[in-house]
Amino acid sequence: MTESSSDKLIEVLRKAVSRTSMLAEGNDPELDSVVRQIRQAMTKGANAQEIQDVLNNAEPLLIKSDEAQTNRAKQVRSTLQELIDLLERQTSKRVPQSEKKQLEAQIRSNWQISSQWPHLLKGFLTLAENTLNQSEGEAEQAKSSFFKRIFNRNRDAELKTNDQEIMIQISHTLAGLMNNLSLPSLYDEDIVDLKRALLGNNNLQQLPGLLDEVINLIMIAIGKTQESLTNYLTQLNKQLASINESITTSYHSQKSLSESREGFNTKLQMQVEDTTQAINGINDLDSLKTLINDRLSTISSTMTEYKTQMQEQEKHSTQSITSLKNKVTRMEKDSVSLRSMLKERLAQAMTDSLTDLPNRTAYQDTILPLCKIMQKTKKPICLAVCDIDFFKKVNDTWGHLAGDKVLRLVPKQIRSALLKEDLMFRYGGEEFVIAFPNTTFAQAIERAEAIRLAVAKTPFNMQGEPVSISVSIGIAELKPQEDPESLFSRADKQLYLAKEGGRNKVMGDK
Ligand code: GH3
Ligand code: MG
Ligand code: MG
Repeated sequence: MTESSSDKLIEVLRKAVSRTSMLAEGNDPELDSVVRQIRQAMTKGANAQEIQDVLNNAEPLLIKSDEAQTNRAKQVRSTLQELIDLLERQTSKRVPQSEKKQLEAQIRSNWQISSQWPHLLKGFLTLAENTLNQSEGEAEQAKSSFFKRIFNRNRDAELKTNDQEIMIQISHTLAGLMNNLSLPSLYDEDIVDLKRALLGNNNLQQLPGLLDEVINLIMIAIGKTQESLTNYLTQLNKQLASINESITTSYHSQKSLSESREGFNTKLQMQVEDTTQAINGINDLDSLKTLINDRLSTISSTMTEYKTQMQEQEKHSTQSITSLKNKVTRMEKDSVSLRSMLKERLAQAMTDSLTDLPNRTAYQDTILPLCKIMQKTKKPICLAVCDIDFFKKVNDTWGHLAGDKVLRLVPKQIRSALLKEDLMFRYGGEEFVIAFPNTTFAQAIERAEAIRLAVAKTPFNMQGEPVSISVSIGIAELKPQEDPESLFSRADKQLYLAKEGGRNKVMGDK
């Protein structure tokens, strides 16, 4: 591998780790902080050793995150079993036994696979619905007994209290599960709302609706799977560590090779000097002969010793160079597949999965070079920050899934009012940022007004009802020396004024 291709590979790895680490964020605060350190080390171009140190710190946390996943799976399994037991404890209706057995078998074989959790909970939902929807006759037949018939009078009241108690217990069990799933913090508010609804509910008939919400949240939580990322980081860590080790060994053997060469030169030089001096003090031929013989055999044994030493070290050094070569070859091979995986991951890390729009990371990567080129070429550029009005109400009234649907549809309306070169990003929750290159302030205001109208005039279909949605937009034009942060903050201030001014408005700061 040439120097420049290895540099390139390291650069690619650096970028990849920095980007992919973003995927790991939001699950465990401790891991978050290490992941941030990794990203910083990578971005500032720290050396292999520093990076390896940070990666080493991440390893136990990644393992811990794996353990947390196993614990979550156990929690899900026991919650499901508890829910089934609770359903059986209610006395008004009988749980269909074959369906119950089937569900229990599914739980036994799939509880460890997080992507199966929603499916298992749905299975419970169906079981609960089938139990509760039985006609009175079926239930009567199923449960009626001699004793029940005798105490028939108190039966209605009894059943009602029993239902309430069971529902309270089911709600507690589900609320406990929500606590243990460690969902991304974005959903904190929804979890609080859902837990409140669960704990305040004592009507068995409302269970299916609430359970549906729990399933939605779990689907969101496991959508962000960490497994592949963990494997990837571990693999990368190992490769970096082994290359680092080989380079260190090879460096040490090179060093000792040149040190012993120097040592040999000095020793030889001293022996020659000694001989010259000794010759000067001798005047008979025999002593001279003996002396020279002695000296020659000393020099010869020094050389033999040196030769053996050199051969030994060369062998060692060849071995370590071969091993390094093999590692590099393996890494080059890996890098091909790694590169395509990274490309995929990179695209993934830059794309918002709900709307398929470029996300906030993509915005941050794009905006600085874009602003710089516009400033350099003295062309105008404007930025719009656009936020859906009263979006929380959409979630509260029609549920989170309906909210998600609005989040997918609004950008389509926005896009209809944009030019091809305008760039739209999902900046956060219900907030979109649009960059208008080569656009004057007056033109940007006009386009934002078109966006506002396009959204406002579109009726959104919510469970058959037409519902109006509006957006508020803040606009700012980039100044000659301004940085993107200041441009964004001026546009954001205008958005705030648009909200203050009654929403469904466009406000601008030239
Ligand atoms: P305002 O007019 O002042 O902007 O009011 P708002 O209700 O739109 O703003 P607020 O910030 O109070 O609420 C935003 C809500 O958006 C809260 C959060 O739960 C929700 N949200 C954020 N991301 C998502 C998402 O991906 N899906 C759904 N369904 N809701 C989301
Ligand atoms: Mg809003
Ligand atoms: Mg907002």
